[in-house]
Amino acid sequence: MIGSLQKTDRAVDFLDGGQKAHKLAKELYPICRSLTGEGLRQTLKTLQRTLPLEIYEVPTGTIAYDWIVPNEWSVKDAFIKDPQGRRVVDFRESNLHLVGYSVPFRGILTREELLTHLYSDPAHPDWIPYRHTYFKESWGFCVAHRKLEDLTDNRYEVCVDTSLDPGHLTYGELVLRGRSTDEVLISAHICHPSLSNDNLSGISVAAALATCLMEEPTELTYRFLFAPATLGPIVWLSRNEAIVPKIRHGVVLACVGDSGPVTYVRSRSGHAVIDRAVEHILKHSGDPFSIKDFAPEGYDQRQFCSPGFNLPVGCFMRTPNGCYPEYHTSADNSDLIKPEALGDSIRKLVSVLAVLEGDKTYANQSPKGEPQLGKRGLMQDAKSLGLWWILNLSDGQHSLLDIAERSGLAFEKIEEGARALTACGLLREVEAHHS
Ligand code: ZN
Repeated sequence: MIGSLQKTDRAVDFLDGGQKAHKLAKELYPICRSLTGEGLRQTLKTLQRTLPLEIYEVPTGTIAYDWIVPNEWSVKDAFIKDPQGRRVVDFRESNLHLVGYSVPFRGILTREELLTHLYSDPAHPDWIPYRHTYFKESWGFCVAHRKLEDLTDNRYEVCVDTSLDPGHLTYGELVLRGRSTDEVLISAHICHPSLSNDNLSGISVAAALATCLMEEPTELTYRFLFAPATLGPIVWLSRNEAIVPKIRHGVVLACVGDSGPVTYVRSRSGHAVIDRAVEHILKHSGDPFSIKDFAPEGYDQRQFCSPGFNLPVGCFMRTPNGCYPEYHTSADNSDLIKPEALGDSIRKLVSVLAVLEGDKTYANQSPKGEPQLGKRGLMQDAKSLGLWWILNLSDGQHSLLDIAERSGLAFEKIEEGARALTACGLLREVEAHHS
């Protein structure tokens, strides 16, 4: 049972998990990822060292609903040279310098011509912004604004040694089978280059959850999806429609490594079990947090919650995309994400999964009047374990999460109470869990 994974004496394990996640994010940081390409394979192969992940390759030209898998993008080199032949902007220094999916280009440009292909952020003059040009043929470079201001020569040599050829869109999938075929979908996008919180934190926390889940048998089946944002889930959905009805709960992970409080974006319905489980855990954590309603924006919940699927999938973040200054810049690096914050995200998510695992429904076997707890030796813990709440609401209609919410007690306590009442015969599970 995953229940044993969330005990407080495992807190040190979560910090250790956070440190491991940080190390993984740091290792993946230099890889040049994009919508397609070798960087995705390299990232997924790194995960394969510890997780039995399947890598899928979907050919260019494959149609997925309203979309089509584009040519695969590769970069050999990219630079801007000044008249002295010095590389003043160099892809090898930071992969953020090259606009993602830039088409090949070579030529000598005047300063004015070059400037139309350069992007910088004057508000943060030392940071390189992140941009891509998916689905639009162009090329460009992102530079620190200070660097841009230093480009005072009249002519520059530009080299964008890239290729866009038929290839594949790559994604990874890991399925951990539980006793039930009901599934929990956990997804993280993998298409950002050297960006830590937006991209790598989600990947490494998802990997940490998978590692936790592999330790013990689970009730539910867990499906992890590591795919490039937007097109990845769309392609996955188009190839896996038969699996979709099995998905009972889902969560998209992104921006889970910064020091800010947790932000959870509810699923489209707003009251799915996953929404209630996350809110319950956050409420009882004692830490600040915020809950937002679904909107068709943000990460891949947009695809899972599109009306043709309307899956119960929320999004778990710390500081949301666009709400921290380092977002989509070179300052979203390994220093921005903290082992403690990654560990805290892992701990809270494990607690959420423990709720999903344990959210069973019971029937009181002595429902006429209150049964006597004293003679069963249960009086002492009756209040702290919510035994009267459990007995009263266990009419076959209310699950343990319903009871936890209504009693104001932590799910963990209610679950422990249900175990005690089951052990003495006062409670019986009414249906196979999530049959
Ligand atoms: Zn992003």
